[in-house]
Amino acid sequence: MLDLHRVRADTPGCLGQAFLDSAGSSLPPRVVTETVITHLRREAEVGGYRAAAERADDLADVKTALAALLGAQPGDLALTESATRGWADFFYSVPLAAGEKILVSEVEYASNAIAALQRARSTGAVVEVVPSTPTGEVDLDALARMLDERVRLVSLVHAPTNGGLLNPVREVVDLAHAVGALVLLDACQSVGQVPVDVVALGVDALSGTGRKWLRGPRGTGFLYVRPELAATMEPAALDLHGAQWTEESGYRLAPDASRFEFWECSVAGRLGLGAAVRYLLDLGIDEIEQSVSALAEYTRTELAAVPGVTVRDLGVDRTGIVSFTVAGVDPTRVRESLAAKDITVTVSGRGSTYLDMSRRGLDAVVRASPHYFNSFDDVDRLVEAVDGR
Ligand SMILES: *Cc1c(COP(=O)(O)O)cnc(C)c1O
Repeated sequence: MLDLHRVRADTPGCLGQAFLDSAGSSLPPRVVTETVITHLRREAEVGGYRAAAERADDLADVKTALAALLGAQPGDLALTESATRGWADFFYSVPLAAGEKILVSEVEYASNAIAALQRARSTGAVVEVVPSTPTGEVDLDALARMLDERVRLVSLVHAPTNGGLLNPVREVVDLAHAVGALVLLDACQSVGQVPVDVVALGVDALSGTGRKWLRGPRGTGFLYVRPELAATMEPAALDLHGAQWTEESGYRLAPDASRFEFWECSVAGRLGLGAAVRYLLDLGIDEIEQSVSALAEYTRTELAAVPGVTVRDLGVDRTGIVSFTVAGVDPTRVRESLAAKDITVTVSGRGSTYLDMSRRGLDAVVRASPHYFNSFDDVDRLVEAVDGR
């Protein structure tokens, strides 16, 4: 059991409001904010190079901590400025030729889909959409029928941005690998709220972000690349960190996933990410999952009992994302009237998950995403406000 009193005391932002947007940009624990600010101050005193050198061990620990969370090795990770940056760094490096295929899931995140469509245009490859089952997960039978040796990559979203379902991963990986296709997992909404083990899942690459469930700073993210691939793949873009200029017309790639990184970064942000992951590891991801799941289920049950409210979540296995609509009220209006009562939720619009929302005839949903630092009182405040009480 998590010590709710302690984690709330560590989270100044959660006092005095019901903050229910960890799927958007969560509230960092105090240690994260302090880490970032302290480093920025130090940079102002001694310059960025010296300040970074002083924190070399902590900087190395960012990957060590992330690797511990993901069941990976530090060298399998590239630190990026966002989940999308990491996703794109891998995706644009996968060789594609005319007639080859990229499969995407129906709950695909817009940025991934746009990149896939762009590459299809430039290479002559084809993007195909794997349908979902009636309960919302990727349809494994349909996937099996769509897979053949022309498929180069399957893009799978672990937990979609607009609803509470969790997709099966291992089954997708096994099917894809049987025809030699790679699996790139968008774990932006899962890492930090549910256990994610890259070896158990068998994915070829995985992207995640700092600012959501990990409670890290904005402008941080990461990419995991399976070590055999990281050692052989040529990144689409390189700099003097991903490769070394060793002769007039030659360079040598870094031996591991750091070949996908660029040299320059927000050092303060990275240190903050490291602090966030250490904080999470300290609490334990299993405890976090239990707590998030209990809060989210409570939110669904209570909201569903409010007249006019429809909970829109699909999925058998569910996450901390709760999506709903209120009959006759625009989701943006719902968000704004909740904000006026110090209740923070967000709206997920059709443009973020175009295929899924279009299929379900939805323009937008209200998204409430409780994290373990939320109390059941926070949820009660949300439900009462939605109910107009
Ligand atoms: C938020 C989100 C992203 C993008 O994360 P960034 O850190 O903004 O790049 C990608 N995929 C899903 C499913 C998301 O919800």
